[in-house]
Amino acid sequence: MAPKAEAAGTAVVWFRKGLRLHDNPALLEAAKSGAKHLCPVFVLDPFFGPKFVGPNRYNFLLDCLRDLDQQLRKRYRSRLIVLRGRPQEVLGKLFQSGKPLLAAKPRLIVWEKDTEPYARKRDAAIEKLAKKGGVEVHTFSGHTLYDVDEALAKNKGSSPTTNNGMQSLAKALGEPAAPRPAPGKLPPLPPAASGKAYDVPDLKKMGYKSSPQTYLKGGETAGAARMTAMLKKTKFIRTFRKPQTRSSAFDPPDTTVLSPYLKFGCVSIREFYYGLKKVCSGSNHSKPPESLLGQILFREMAYLMGASIPNFDRQAGNPCCKPIPWANNKKLLAAWETGRTGYPFIDASMRQLTRVGWMHHLARHAVACFLTRGDLWLSWEEGRDVFDRLLVDADWSLNNMNWLGLSGAAPWSPPFFRVYHPVPKMDSSLNVKDPEGKFIREFVPELRKMPSKYIYAPWTAPKEVQQAAGCIVGKDYPKPIVDHETVCKANLERFKKALAAARSAGGQKRKASGSASSGKKRKFG
Ligand SMILES: Cc1cc2nc3c(=O)[nH]c(=O)nc-3n(C[C@H](O)[C@H](O)[C@H](O)COP(=O)(O)OP(=O)(O)OC[C@H]3O[C@@H](n4cnc5c(N)ncnc54)[C@H](O)[C@@H]3O)c2cc1C
Repeated sequence: MAPKAEAAGTAVVWFRKGLRLHDNPALLEAAKSGAKHLCPVFVLDPFFGPKFVGPNRYNFLLDCLRDLDQQLRKRYRSRLIVLRGRPQEVLGKLFQSGKPLLAAKPRLIVWEKDTEPYARKRDAAIEKLAKKGGVEVHTFSGHTLYDVDEALAKNKGSSPTTNNGMQSLAKALGEPAAPRPAPGKLPPLPPAASGKAYDVPDLKKMGYKSSPQTYLKGGETAGAARMTAMLKKTKFIRTFRKPQTRSSAFDPPDTTVLSPYLKFGCVSIREFYYGLKKVCSGSNHSKPPESLLGQILFREMAYLMGASIPNFDRQAGNPCCKPIPWANNKKLLAAWETGRTGYPFIDASMRQLTRVGWMHHLARHAVACFLTRGDLWLSWEEGRDVFDRLLVDADWSLNNMNWLGLSGAAPWSPPFFRVYHPVPKMDSSLNVKDPEGKFIREFVPELRKMPSKYIYAPWTAPKEVQQAAGCIVGKDYPKPIVDHETVCKANLERFKKALAAARSAGGQKRKASGSASSGKKRKFG
């Protein structure tokens, strides 16, 4: 008979997102599982490398892992074991013999649910391997306010597509589970789980040649500090109205900049939710959709959409994406991505994306509209990919929901003919409110000395003004790559035509199939 201690076995906590110790249901479960040993593991999957993830985000992830490792050491005399390779292979091996990390295969593996398609496929494969190896699998919801599958089931399998719809669903679901503190104690590490080979690597070791430029520092410690600081700003929270925050504010920004921490789960969305409720309770406060609670309901809705709408990340086969014949033009795409469109507000925003890995929501609106229906007539999928690579907060569900919306092609899009002007007026809905162009001077240094009068449209400055500013348009800074007034008019016509063609194709299909009900507008929410 095996000794009693041996029978308790090892519990593996597989961290993916949810890179925190507090309010971590999977970690709490493993802590009280009765396992003799607990092994916290992160697997660096080569799928997410320099091709798809920019240096700012990868470095942020490594910060998160370092912080988690340090906290595990400090609080529990444990550590994070960082493994490298395809999770299916690395964990598959572990489930067979435990080697080289454990003396025997683990008894249990736990993780936080992830509803992105890549993760669902990966996790299904891991679950199969675990079952084959006789390893128990327990999974927990922790990245969203509600369990995504339960929330969808409550809404008859579909996602709301409006903030109002999301508010109603949240009401029907009741209050989210309250956040829980980190475990008081953890079982010790398995004896073989030690050595430098399992340390958090640096960026260079992961194949990155360029260094991160962002000021954003990853990790639960930094995330908790930011969230605490935000929750202390009670007036800011109670009066928060998203459209009134300035898209040009960068030092500091006008919004919370919690998005990178929420993306990696360094902070708990439930803790943020209850923190906001506490600040707002008993006093006048702004309301969803404009309030901060409204913002996190948008977040929740994005996960529900991502998990329920087929082919959510593409036009083809996506019932929520109108078929628009976008053009293909690598030169225009590159000019947009590198911030060389000749429109300073667009360029400053895109260069902020490259340098910092973050952009204000309304700046995201401006550049997304410019790339798609507004000016360049390029596919939202291309813009989404650029954001996905460069944003520190890049999140599959949020990014796709917002890009679909901004392209004009989704049921939740604003009217396609409402286009942002790339030379924004100070009182426009982009809420730039930066008449001196401080934001532009920061991110487009060529224009640093351009007089304020011309900072948003430098090509209109007389030659001698350009000379005095040390910036000749067409030489030191590009001329506008398109004439907004001309292309915008043409694009609206193209959009109208595409919608008419889609309607007529839909009508013909319905006639051919003889279906009466398919004529109804698909209803979400
Ligand atoms: C084209 C486009 C692409 C986007 N891609 C992403 C992305 O990949 N990752 C991402 O986190 N956000 C994305 N957003 C949404 C939004 O711009 C960011 O969440 C927000 O700007 C982050 O800054 P913050 O944390 O200061 O936001 P705050 O205004 O302080 O909001 C708090 C939190 O609410 C959530 N939130 C706010 N706005 C939205 C929104 N519109 N949709 C869903 N959740 C929201 C975020 O988690 C955010 O951190 C995108 C928006 C657009 C227009």
